[in-house]
Amino acid sequence: MQRSYVIKPELGKSYPFVSHGKGIYLYDKEGKRYIDGCSGAVTASIGHAVEEIAEAMYAQARSVSFAYRSHFSSDAVEELGAKLAEWAPGSLNWSFFVGSGSEATETAQKIAIQYWQEKGYATKNRIISRWMSYHGITMGALSMSGHVLRRKRFVPLLADCPTIAPPYPYRRPEGMPLEAYALACANELETAILRVGPEHVAAFIAEPVIGASGGAVVPPDGYFQRIREICDKYQVLFIADEVMTGVGRTGKRFGIDHWGVQPDLMALGKGMSAGYTPMAAAMATDEIIETIARGSGLIMAGHTYSANPQSAAVSLAVLRYVEQHRLVDRAAERGAYLLNRLRELADELPLIGEARGLGMLCGLEFVKDKKTREPFPLAQGVSARIIKRAFEKGLLIYPATGGLEGVAGDAVIIAPPLTITTEEIDELIALLKEAVSSVQ
Ligand code: PLP
Repeated sequence: MQRSYVIKPELGKSYPFVSHGKGIYLYDKEGKRYIDGCSGAVTASIGHAVEEIAEAMYAQARSVSFAYRSHFSSDAVEELGAKLAEWAPGSLNWSFFVGSGSEATETAQKIAIQYWQEKGYATKNRIISRWMSYHGITMGALSMSGHVLRRKRFVPLLADCPTIAPPYPYRRPEGMPLEAYALACANELETAILRVGPEHVAAFIAEPVIGASGGAVVPPDGYFQRIREICDKYQVLFIADEVMTGVGRTGKRFGIDHWGVQPDLMALGKGMSAGYTPMAAAMATDEIIETIARGSGLIMAGHTYSANPQSAAVSLAVLRYVEQHRLVDRAAERGAYLLNRLRELADELPLIGEARGLGMLCGLEFVKDKKTREPFPLAQGVSARIIKRAFEKGLLIYPATGGLEGVAGDAVIIAPPLTITTEEIDELIALLKEAVSSVQ
C-alpha cells in the first residue's frame, strides 16, 4: 500500500477504501458490505448510485458545469430556486446557494444582521443560540454552535453568542409535565433577549430536532410556537437550521413543519443534494430580501462555488426524485416502523436509556443506570465503542455526543436513507442489537 498524505478524521488510523454503493448499502474494496444506517452524515437520503441523478449530472456537465454567479444565472439554478420556494413554508421564497451546511447557517446569520442594518437598526447584530446544538464548523457557524467538543479549542476566536438550554425531554426535571417544560425552555429565550437587550439581538437559531450534539432530541409541542411568539415580540428573526432535518428527513418537508411555525430564515444542506454534490442554501422571506433590495441591493456573502449550475442541476434532480418517489411520506411511515423497532430494542437492552426520533431521524441514548438515567462519563466512550463494533459488523451509525459532561448524554443517530424497506430496517436492527449487546 502506498503511503497516504491525506488528512483523515483520525490521523494514524487506517480506513477501508469504499468501492461502490447501491441503495442503502456501501461496499469496500475488500468486498465487505455495510448498511448505511446513518446515510453517511445524515446526507445520502435517497440512497447510493441512483441512475437518474448520474444522468442529470452528466447532462449538466456536457452543457456547462461552472459559470460564475456574478456573470450568469442558469436554468438549473433558477429551477432549483423555484422548486425550493414551492417546498418551503410561507414566504420563505428566496435561496442563496452555497456549498455546505456551515456556509448556509453562516450566510443566514449574515443576512439576518444585514437585514436589521438595512432597516436602520445597526446595533441588532447578536445571534442567540442553544447549548446542545450544531450549526457548522466555520467560525461564524461554530460561534453559534453549542457543541462543546467542537468549540473547545477555538473559544477565544469565536463571536459571543448568548446561549440558552434546549428542551431535552428525557432529562427534564422529574415530574415536570411536558407542556410546562416546553414553555419554561422557550421562555429562556425571552430572558436571554432581555439580558442582552432586544436592540442588540438580530436572530435566534435552532435545529428543529437536535442532531449531532444530542441524538435526535425532539422538542415537546408548544416549544417552537412559543419561540415564534417571543421572536415576534422583540423583533428577533428566527433561523431554522434544517441542514439535517430538511428535505423530508423527519417525515415532513422540513422539521419545523411539525409545529406549523414559519421561520424568517432557513439553512439547508445534506439531504438537499443527498450527497451527490456539495450543495446547500440559506433561504429567506420576501420581507427580508425585499428590504435588502430596497437598501444596498447587495447581500454581503458568497463563495466561488455558490450557485454553480452543476451542483444546482444535481440538487434539482434529487428534489424531483424525492417528490416522484414520495420519500417524505415514506420517511414518516418507515420512520415510525424504525422507531418502534428501536424502542423494542431499548426495552430489551439495559444500556439503552431512550430510543427517540421523528421520521427517519432517530437516536439512541446510552445510560449507566436505566432507572436513574445516570449518564455514562464521556471518557468511558461507550457510544464510540458501539459505533466501532457496529462498523466491524457492517453497520454505519453516527456519533451524537455533544461533549457536555453530565448534561448532554452519550448518544448515536440512526438515520438510514429514506428509501429503506422494512426488511432492510429489520436487518439494520439485528446488527445494531449485536453491536450494543457486545459492549459492557
Ligand atoms: N447544521 C446542522 C444542523 C448540521 O447537522 C450540520 C452538520 O452536521 C451543519 C449545520 C454543518 O453542515 P456541514 O458539515 O455541511 O458544513
